[in-house]
Amino acid sequence: MANLVPPSIYGKEHPEYYALVDGRRLLEMHGGGPQLCLTNPEVLEIVIKTTLDAIERNPNAKNFNVAQMDNGNYCTCESCTELDEQEESHAGTMLSFVNAVAERIEKTHPDVFIGTYAYEYTRKPPKTISARDNVLIQLCSIECCTFHAIDDPSCSLNQDFCADMDIWNEKAKNIFIWHYNTNFRAYLLPFPNLRSIGKSVEYFANNNGRGVFMQAAGDGLSTELSDLRNYVMSRCLWKPGRDSWQEAMEFCRLHYAESAQPIIDYLTYYHDLIDKENLHPLLFSTEASLFLNPETVKQIDKYFTNALTLAKSEEIRNRVEKASLCVYRAKLSVSTMEMKYANGFCKPSLNGEDENLLERYAELCTKYEVSRESEYTKNEDYLNNMRKIYSGIKAVSLENKFWRVVLLPESNAKIVEMTYKPTGRNVIKPARALDRFRFEEWVRQGDGPKADGILAFKVMEKSTTQTVVALATKDGARIERTISLTGDAIRFETTLKAGQARPFNFLVHPEYDAGSGSDDPQEVSIYVKDEEWIHVNKGWVNAKPTDGQSTLIKEGLKGGAFAYFNQKEDFGVEQRFDSKDFENINLFWSPERIQINLEMTPTIKKLQAGEKAKYAYEVHYLDKAPIKY
Ligand SMILES: [Zn+2]
Ligand SMILES: [Zn+2]
Repeated sequence: MANLVPPSIYGKEHPEYYALVDGRRLLEMHGGGPQLCLTNPEVLEIVIKTTLDAIERNPNAKNFNVAQMDNGNYCTCESCTELDEQEESHAGTMLSFVNAVAERIEKTHPDVFIGTYAYEYTRKPPKTISARDNVLIQLCSIECCTFHAIDDPSCSLNQDFCADMDIWNEKAKNIFIWHYNTNFRAYLLPFPNLRSIGKSVEYFANNNGRGVFMQAAGDGLSTELSDLRNYVMSRCLWKPGRDSWQEAMEFCRLHYAESAQPIIDYLTYYHDLIDKENLHPLLFSTEASLFLNPETVKQIDKYFTNALTLAKSEEIRNRVEKASLCVYRAKLSVSTMEMKYANGFCKPSLNGEDENLLERYAELCTKYEVSRESEYTKNEDYLNNMRKIYSGIKAVSLENKFWRVVLLPESNAKIVEMTYKPTGRNVIKPARALDRFRFEEWVRQGDGPKADGILAFKVMEKSTTQTVVALATKDGARIERTISLTGDAIRFETTLKAGQARPFNFLVHPEYDAGSGSDDPQEVSIYVKDEEWIHVNKGWVNAKPTDGQSTLIKEGLKGGAFAYFNQKEDFGVEQRFDSKDFENINLFWSPERIQINLEMTPTIKKLQAGEKAKYAYEVHYLDKAPIKY
């Protein structure tokens, strides 16, 4: 959509063409560009014209997209909100807009389809509006669990999707599916979806799905078992109803020949394990949701070692070696799960693993032409980052009677350890990779530290209990962070001084250790403070918050405190802040996650040249829940 109404052409004179988000018309937006204001009649005319132009330029194409951009920032202007509220879904504005485009296109091009997505905020069908016959709805399964088949009654995430698909079926003649088949966070880690592929394709075919786009690691070569996966997916798409597990077994026997059995045993072991642990890995899976830890990875390693020794020819050995990339990659993850601090450096723990693990993996990646580590990271960059981690990252350690805190100044000054000494528990998750699992702060606009833009802070001051780190940005701003231990508190303070006028749009992003993963949201309890503490994840349905409960989390802004407590392991954290300093808090956590992911947005948004701003917060250890369970 942003391409049909380019902000570079219209943005300056007509900001009102673009979505109103938090009271602002934002022209720059991640995910390809801003969403449009879909109830503005001028926007409709422009989209019709640009779509007609596109049809003229591509007379053989029969399917043109009028679809949302890849971000959740839909328009919240009065008229868009009114329509969405009437239709009880943001698909309300979307579908009425797309229908209006399709109606006009049909007059001159009756054989052309106008495609749109039912994706994230538009997945829920509108209450009264139906799609015109020349509209093609592509329903996206992005929230779904990949281990279970889409119609598996034991998987509530997937049952929600099926319920939406049933309603879309009554509202649209042409339904296509966008289905996800890989772990976009780490293309090479073991991924247990081989039992669900066939059943999901069969479900789509039996429920009016006219086509399925199977998105896998399409931009990467030699990803986890990619030969096997390409075979299995193609066979199931060619003839819906085929059993993907049987297809996988067949591929193993044909392709890995005398080495097939241990690989079949590995696949069986790993799928059974995920089943037994009752996990629901999503398409951005972490090692935790894939149950990859030192013990399981050691077990997986045995199967591949065995398979390699059985290979009788160079050809079979190479095939097995290529398949073993996934266990190497898993071993690398495991090695960084625990970063060991010593003498000013943090290093991964190899725990008896081959010292050349990383270089051996790099060699295999070259041999088998691995091109990407993930959707966002080239393999080369991943390897270089891992080399930095393996050679030891400069670290600062602070310590008093209560806490030991370790941070990495050269990696966005992220915190990688917060151990509460009286109990010995580290309450945050370690580094894992330079761009993952972090307790850090990012800028959302302008120069500065970002999740994918790792910058080095300079250590300005360092004592046993306090450090000051600073970063000068290209636009002349200075970001300074002070981290100090005062009694039983860890205090964080960030100051930014602008060189020239710039946005001051920060995100404070702690990731805490939730302890045991559990499907029961009562086991890990989340609290915010209004006047009193409120237990906000009480009664989550299917371990998910209702809209009301999500809103409740924001109440923590008033009382200036957020907390969580693991009832089984008897520990938790309280984070306190001045409620004036923050305008929003969000919780990204569900019970299958081992990390509690809090996002806090500071109030200040813009600074003039020379202007200064700051915010602060404090972390406390909890040995009992703030209120009774
Ligand atoms: Zn609007
Ligand atoms: Zn599931």
